[in-house]
Amino acid sequence: MDGEKESLMERVVMVEEDVMLPGMNAASEEAARSEEDLFPDVRETLLEVKDLAISFVQYSKGLRQRTVSPIVDLNLIVDVGEVVAVVGESGSGKSLLAHSILGILPSNARVTGEINYDGRALTPERVKELRGREITFVPQSVQFLNPLMRVGAQIPAKGKDKRERKKKVRSVFERYRLPAGTEKKFPYQLSGGMARRVLVASATVGGARLIVADEPTPGLDEAAIREALGHLRELADEGRAVMLISHDLEQALGISDRVAVFYAGTTLEEARADDFNGDGCDLRHPYTRALWKALPSNGFLAIPGNQPTPDNLPPGCLFSPRCQMATEECFSVKPHKRDLRGGWVRCHHAA
Ligand code: SF4
Repeated sequence: MDGEKESLMERVVMVEEDVMLPGMNAASEEAARSEEDLFPDVRETLLEVKDLAISFVQYSKGLRQRTVSPIVDLNLIVDVGEVVAVVGESGSGKSLLAHSILGILPSNARVTGEINYDGRALTPERVKELRGREITFVPQSVQFLNPLMRVGAQIPAKGKDKRERKKKVRSVFERYRLPAGTEKKFPYQLSGGMARRVLVASATVGGARLIVADEPTPGLDEAAIREALGHLRELADEGRAVMLISHDLEQALGISDRVAVFYAGTTLEEARADDFNGDGCDLRHPYTRALWKALPSNGFLAIPGNQPTPDNLPPGCLFSPRCQMATEECFSVKPHKRDLRGGWVRCHHAA
């Protein structure tokens, strides 16, 4: 690929490689939208993930095959104008969900369930059309910036000529307080905070409607974290939808409307951000309450045990080996998703 034309989004795809969302219906191509037409009569729900499961066939010891299922049962809805946080331990499936929304799963992934965007299936063809335009990504690592390209050239701004394109890049850089001349710098010449702002600028320059931010704050100091998260909140308040992946519940709660709690590839609960209060009694799932109580400000109570690995999932409730409320039923029967007190939960005994 011509280096000067390699935008950040293209680089994200190159880094993650192999677009694939098998098991989904074909749909017609999405018409290109002008920036002014972005938010007319948008449906309330922009992204819907329904009963998503992802498995990989792996070869071990010669030709012996085994199937590993890191995503078992994910459900999530992100509405226009809101930030939905996806929280959970490392290995719970958060980043894999982001990759499946963006259509950048490895080619050996097997996917079932649905991902719908703006009311229609997000097919591989459709996601290819929308990625980098309506659906953008703020990646975990600033290494997604091409180290050999000036950062201005990595911003996917469109314009009728070079001058207009440059003007758009400058305008979005100004919005994120990136001083004049930043465009001409290489990534290694930027501070961590500036590189993060370039990533956010890149995700918003084309008028994205859905922003998927995957742990956008590692390595930043407190002020830079507040700033980066504040930008995401602003984007939602402008009428976009933001899915924020984070392992830091406290940070995520600072800007989120709702929180989806992931555990071993399954969504255990979806709660409103204001359900996280006091002793956690408004929360529905014992694991969510345990996460809340594990925060330094809430007692720093460690959760005993470990999250199960994809090749060793318990037969009943995934949290049963660690749950103090577990009964006989919990060890053998999987709890189904059910609505409860304005959210939903997967737990036999949540009330
Ligand atoms: S289903 Fe049982 S083991 Fe699982 S979280 Fe609920 S009470 Fe605990």
